[in-house]
Amino acid sequence: MAKITKRSWAEPYRMKMVELLKVTTRPQRLKALKEAGFNTFLLPAEDVYIDLLTDSGTNAMSDQQWSAFMTGDEAYAGSKSYYRMEKTIQDYYGYKYIIPTHQGRGAEHLLSKIMIKKGDYVPGNMYFTTTRLHQELAGAKFVDVIIDEAHDPNNPFPFKGNVDINKLDALVKKVGASKIPYICVATNVNMAGGQPISLANLKELRKYTKKHGIKIIHDMTRVAENAYFIQQREKGYQNTKIKDIVKEICSLTDGATMSAKKDALVNIGGFLAINDWDIYEEARNLVVAYEGLHTYGGIAGRDMEAIAVGIVESLSDAHQKARVGQVEYLGAKMQEYGIPIVTPIGGHGIFVDAKAFLPHLTQDQFPAQTLAAEVYLDSGVRTMERGIVSAGRKPNGDNYYPNLELVRFTLPRRVYTQAHMDVVAESVAMVYENRTKIKGLKMIYEPKYLRFFQARFEQLK
Ligand SMILES: *Cc1c(COP(=O)(O)O)cnc(C)c1O
Repeated sequence: MAKITKRSWAEPYRMKMVELLKVTTRPQRLKALKEAGFNTFLLPAEDVYIDLLTDSGTNAMSDQQWSAFMTGDEAYAGSKSYYRMEKTIQDYYGYKYIIPTHQGRGAEHLLSKIMIKKGDYVPGNMYFTTTRLHQELAGAKFVDVIIDEAHDPNNPFPFKGNVDINKLDALVKKVGASKIPYICVATNVNMAGGQPISLANLKELRKYTKKHGIKIIHDMTRVAENAYFIQQREKGYQNTKIKDIVKEICSLTDGATMSAKKDALVNIGGFLAINDWDIYEEARNLVVAYEGLHTYGGIAGRDMEAIAVGIVESLSDAHQKARVGQVEYLGAKMQEYGIPIVTPIGGHGIFVDAKAFLPHLTQDQFPAQTLAAEVYLDSGVRTMERGIVSAGRKPNGDNYYPNLELVRFTLPRRVYTQAHMDVVAESVAMVYENRTKIKGLKMIYEPKYLRFFQARFEQLK
């Protein structure tokens, strides 16, 4: 008779509706992969069994969100749903002025246009694809000021999202604070593997930037997941609620860009939040040209309702425990099979170290792109590359060669079960057993911007 050695926890929700999935054969998947140029972004979703491409806009909404949908006010100007979303953001995040945008990059576009002058520098705790591109298009140079630990997939440091204040200080000394309109601080750094920044680091950064008159703009896409890690790992926060930690994080920054498609548990939407009236006024004017009137900014009233409910749900301790708990479950399972993953395990997915997985491939043979293709071929599990293809080219045309060459297994929120996680881990283990036979890829088509979305590849012979 088995003795109880642990007490399990489970999701704080149950299913009310299900979506049927298509199961494919290996020959079908090989055909689909060839047609997609070995780029998982180009696969028809219908041919995917478990879709871990992204956690962006793939969330399952709650019954409360769906019923809020029906109360959406679709008035062109001054919609009730706008005021509800605005109040929720003010109450829970603490920012003063809010402009809805169609998604996160809409807010990045407005902010970059308003705050950046040609020749400026924008430091950040690692880059994000669209964020950096908008900064560059506005004439700035991005400078990575994240701590070195973030670039090492095996370093166990608990806050690999921290800013290295010395790196920032070196930049300030080199170019002068007047050339730095703001520092972009991401909570749970996506490109580092969903790694958190600590409140201690953020407080130190606030002190430093105040002294030099530099604003902090918060890329708050995954702020609640970051807050969960602070609660779990940072001294003094074990008994603080996630919603209070989130409020404290936001209070240390001057404004934010938000993709509600992540933390906020919806399928589309975002916003720009800012405490400075002048920036708000300019953004309120510009948003009309690029997104829509400042009280809907490219999203429907019903989406603003769902965001308002989703923000509150995302700040529940039970939700984050299940959310990040599922990611940790998948990661632990892969570790049991000896698969090299980025540690500590991050908040929104497992990042497999493709350089360690396929050490016989050079970075120009696209190890992460190759591994993503092989996993799909094995089981129909879709993942994405976060390595040299995603990093793209510098403004002078040279390739960036990032240290990290990762395959991202991103978990949509509230969508898949523990059994799905078992299938995923076993598939990666199967590919791992046969890894020495895997050949790399050659890029045969490269788009000019954000090439990872549409690039095409061929298998090397
Ligand atoms: C997704 C994301 C964005 C951009 O948001 P979209 O809604 O996809 O436009 C910006 N920053 C980070 C860290 C993200 O993960």
